[in-house]
Amino acid sequence: MPPDQVCHRCGSTDPNYTFEPVSGHGVIRSWTTVRQAFLPGFADDVPFVLVDVELAEPGEVRLIGRLLDGPEASPRLGAPVRVDWERVDDDVAVPAFVLAEGVAA
Ligand SMILES: [Zn+2]
Repeated sequence: MPPDQVCHRCGSTDPNYTFEPVSGHGVIRSWTTVRQAFLPGFADDVPFVLVDVELAEPGEVRLIGRLLDGPEASPRLGAPVRVDWERVDDDVAVPAFVLAEGVAA
């Protein structure tokens, strides 16, 4: 995500993607804490945690987003998360995640 021009699985340059709704639940596959802003516009946002989430739906659909629990959150491999939305503009919201430990997925 977002859809690429080349299918990562078979290499097709005409992958025929379709959009399908998903539950918004998944588990953390990897994460990193971003401490340096490479663009001036992000200077006020660091540090933040970026998570690589495998969604609950079959097909190994993965999505990268910010973890909204804050820089002190302690993510772990396989921890359940659910999608939340980070509003970046009046008309634009991007998917982000929050830890869902102890919450039924
Ligand atoms: Zn393919």
